[in-house]
Amino acid sequence: MNLKDKTAMITGAASGIGREIARAFYKAGAKVCIADISWEAARTTAQEIGEEGGDALAVAMDVSDEQGVETGVQKVIASFGRVDVLVSNAGIQHIAPVVDLSFANWRRLIAIHLDGAFLTTRACLRHMQAAGRGGSILYMGSVHSKQASPLKAPYVAAKHGLLGLCKVVAIEGAQFGVRANLICPGFVRTPLVDQQIPEQATRLGITEEEVIKKIMLKDTVDGEFTTTADVADLAVFLASFPSNALTGQSIVVSHGWHMQ
Ligand code: NAD
Repeated sequence: MNLKDKTAMITGAASGIGREIARAFYKAGAKVCIADISWEAARTTAQEIGEEGGDALAVAMDVSDEQGVETGVQKVIASFGRVDVLVSNAGIQHIAPVVDLSFANWRRLIAIHLDGAFLTTRACLRHMQAAGRGGSILYMGSVHSKQASPLKAPYVAAKHGLLGLCKVVAIEGAQFGVRANLICPGFVRTPLVDQQIPEQATRLGITEEEVIKKIMLKDTVDGEFTTTADVADLAVFLASFPSNALTGQSIVVSHGWHMQ
């Protein structure tokens, strides 16, 4: 599992899962681009990796903005000369029943998850095809790419949508040696999850402890959260896999919450 001489762009890499993937990638030998809407946090993450001896570039990028994505990917290529791996990871959550969900919140979530995955894929895939060195595209799905939960309509719809995009990119990318796979984590303790625990408690009229035990971890085999390191290990494995034998797949990492 070696990413030596590879360059990876990870969106949403200034926090949580994306940040851990960036750290795991640099430890596996890759140069990493921390692409995030939060410029300050992206710069801090890149600095930390740099101080540890890694090669990291911070790029301010709103993945739902077409021009911003094009400019950001150009910056990565100008700095590193290539993009071998894309991790489309940036995401948000919004908790509301369908009947209370505003169109603006529906569109905002879909734009970040799905438009963002499309725009970053298109920009990187064009480069990968032209460069002729193959590549790997990883999408951050979720157990919610496979099944549903209440209060999460746009999130579940977007994560299911990523599965379709991943399969198409796997087919179109194959002749150029570009693989596409979807990572589907269970609940991971990041700011995205910490924010929704009190929100779900309020919506459902239960305690935060009950949200964790009776909703988030209820169907796991051992009552444990998945960790950012678990997800990052899987990302390194998928990014460094050497052939088209492993493409168009969705891999669940969830302490058995979802079994395929
Ligand atoms: P997080 O909130 O810790 O990190 C998300 C990052 O995305 C932040 O740095 C944020 O600034 C960035 N971001 C948000 N909007 C952006 C935009 N428009 N453009 C660029 N960057 C943007 O969340 P996380 O838990 O690490 O989530 C990362 C991904 O993992 C998301 O796609 C999420 O849906 C997915 N996921 C998370 C869990 C979980 O339990 N935490 C489970 C399954 C899937």
